[in-house]
Amino acid sequence: MNLVASTEDREFQAQVKDFISDHLTDDIRRAGRLATSVFADPELTMAWQRILHAKGWAAPHWPVEYGGTGWTLSQRAIFAEALINADAPPLIPMGLMMCGPCLIGYGTDTQKNELLPRILSGEDFWCQGYSEPDAGSDLVSLRTSAIRDGDDYIINGSKIWTTYAHHANKMFCLVRTCKESKPQSGISFLLLDMNLPGITVRPIIGLDEAPEQCEVFFENVRVPASQLVGQENQGWTVAKYLLVFERGGLEYAPVLSVQLAKIRQMAQRQNTADRKTLWQQESFQLNFARCQRDIQALEFTEKRIKSALSSGGNPGALSSMTKVIGTELQQKLTELALSCLGAQALIWQPNALVPSQPAQPLGPEYAVTAVPHYLNTRATSIYGGSNEVQRNIIAKMVLGL
Ligand SMILES: Cc1cc2nc3c(=O)[nH]c(=O)nc-3n(C[C@H](O)[C@H](O)[C@H](O)COP(=O)(O)OP(=O)(O)OC[C@H]3O[C@@H](n4cnc5c(N)ncnc54)[C@H](O)[C@@H]3O)c2cc1C
Repeated sequence: MNLVASTEDREFQAQVKDFISDHLTDDIRRAGRLATSVFADPELTMAWQRILHAKGWAAPHWPVEYGGTGWTLSQRAIFAEALINADAPPLIPMGLMMCGPCLIGYGTDTQKNELLPRILSGEDFWCQGYSEPDAGSDLVSLRTSAIRDGDDYIINGSKIWTTYAHHANKMFCLVRTCKESKPQSGISFLLLDMNLPGITVRPIIGLDEAPEQCEVFFENVRVPASQLVGQENQGWTVAKYLLVFERGGLEYAPVLSVQLAKIRQMAQRQNTADRKTLWQQESFQLNFARCQRDIQALEFTEKRIKSALSSGGNPGALSSMTKVIGTELQQKLTELALSCLGAQALIWQPNALVPSQPAQPLGPEYAVTAVPHYLNTRATSIYGGSNEVQRNIIAKMVLGL
């Protein structure tokens, strides 16, 4: 892959920067800055999605005929990095990164025509109903049942850890449509409206006191059979296709680099007892340099993946490697930020995290997010396939164990 930006790329970069500085409003930018997880404030994030959609830039990775931009991989990287550098809130992935590509791959024409435009515009807010109380890593053992009754399925069971189910009006989910066959052969992929009678959503309060995930209960919920994606009992194929987008679509290094640069600025402002700044302290610089080295190594691996994809290859187990390294580095950086801020980070002030009307923070704004971000980031090595499970994949596929 050619790592040197071409003239066209530089022109494109300038065009993207101009657009962002003209359209990313202060309150949306603040939402990006105050985000303490991969999700920023949902309302302002959706407002940003509508702005990008109006420009045709909400889903650069989609095929052009469905609303994608037709950009090269390098243009997509430039766009993504410009958004991160500008503190734009990341768009919510369940519709754009997961359900959309799945419908493009497996949906009927009616499903595509009806649903894809609403994903792009943000009219529909999707959540992902895969995990159940006894089916997380071992997803094939899921038990939520869908029994055919005329033109409908009747759903009974429950899902857990469903991110933003309390904001969503749509869910894509996995249900068991056959108990007799092998576990993965009896699963179907179904779309449903969250306001159907018989659905109850109960938010789960996280370590950081934010209700980001939910439990969802189904009691005799009737879903039209036309909402099936792919064939009945073949949902495992669709589910796996979607997981490739969930894991492989992620790039960690650009976000990590920006976060590390912010930690450096923090350290340069923190005074120590010997009238120096923390940045001048050798032990801090050593920890900082180790993180910088690891992020750079990850960046090159991610570039290798991109290079493989641009010449038609498959990232394979490389995406498991970047998932493990990327999430462990995310966690390390939140630890470095805490060690940098010390007691300043310990003031618990959730009201200062509300982007639309933040309370005046005690201390600097960047200290407000440090502990909630640290706590939320403990989950990154669990969701999207736990890191232990990713290590199993690497052991099998790369090391041949
Ligand atoms: C913040 C957050 C958001 C989430 N969002 C969603 C969502 O939107 N939709 C959704 O469907 N799910 C979501 N999940 C669920 C997530 O996918 C599961 O938590 C994850 O798959 C792990 O499953 P589990 O929690 O049941 O843990 P388990 O599978 O019970 O695992 C428990 C522990 O055992 C380890 N383990 C399990 N199997 C093996 C193995 N074979 N070898 C080695 N170690 C193993 C795991 O790594 C883990 O440490 C979310 C989870 C979190 C934390």
